[in-house]
Amino acid sequence: MPQAETATVHPPVVLEDVTVRYGRNARSLTTAVEGVSLALAEGEFTVLVGPSGCGKTTLLRVVAGFERTSEGTALVRGSAPVPGGGTGIVFQQPRLFPWRTVGGNIAFALARHGVPREQRAARTAQLLERVGLAGKAGRRTWELSGGQQQRVAIARALAGEPRLLLMDEPFAALDALTRERLQEEVRTLAAASGTTVLFVTHSAEEAVLLGTRVLVMAAPPGSPGRIVSELAVDLPRTPDTDPAALRATPEFARLRGELTATMREAATLDA
Ligand code: ADP
Repeated sequence: MPQAETATVHPPVVLEDVTVRYGRNARSLTTAVEGVSLALAEGEFTVLVGPSGCGKTTLLRVVAGFERTSEGTALVRGSAPVPGGGTGIVFQQPRLFPWRTVGGNIAFALARHGVPREQRAARTAQLLERVGLAGKAGRRTWELSGGQQQRVAIARALAGEPRLLLMDEPFAALDALTRERLQEEVRTLAAASGTTVLFVTHSAEEAVLLGTRVLVMAAPPGSPGRIVSELAVDLPRTPDTDPAALRATPEFARLRGELTATMREAATLDA
């Protein structure tokens, strides 16, 4: 039988009844999230949204392989997640190496992913072009603006050609205009490459703009975080859709309103 027919296709991410507790002994334990189940489909852009402290970063860290589950199972393409692997990560702060050039930061990531030395300069140039930083390889990271530095961080995350991209409030520290540009660029990049994305934010606007599916988390006072609601975002988008025009549509306003109301409701849930 051909291999394709026998191979099992695992979803990019599956969390089953995941609970994460922090702390070393029973008295100091904090249950950050409890009983979280979710499955991400191939190529889906899923946004986790919720107030600060509800466990969004914790879930992302579990999927990244940085945090173990205390209960339940986390699987990335059928296996326990391991840091590195085929997963790209972008944090709120770019976390670049200041002693390396822009290109040096990317080349370092390429080396980690096993790209031969003689191919790294060309691949670095390609990646920088993809994030709108063509010609900036020789610059020092601290010479760049915050938005440009975050672009380098995105290029670095793309260096391993990840099939799964995890983004933890990557635009929260940027000014509004830069944020809008980068949102659109990331959405377009992900759609063009078919990358599965799990994106954390506390902004309803950002969630609706980027996500094809939004999962709403909440943590009532003194209780662990949970996923309490889910919203499908079915906006009429094509590669040419102007994001400003999309934001101006009644459908966008309706979805943003619905999500904001759900988030407000979730914030007042009783334990
Ligand atoms: P969010 O990303 O939604 O802001 P987090 O996942 O960062 O939420 O945090 C969820 C909960 O877990 C919070 O109560 C937070 O204080 C707690 N927490 C997060 N990281 C740790 C840690 N390393 N040790 C102890 N508690 C933590």
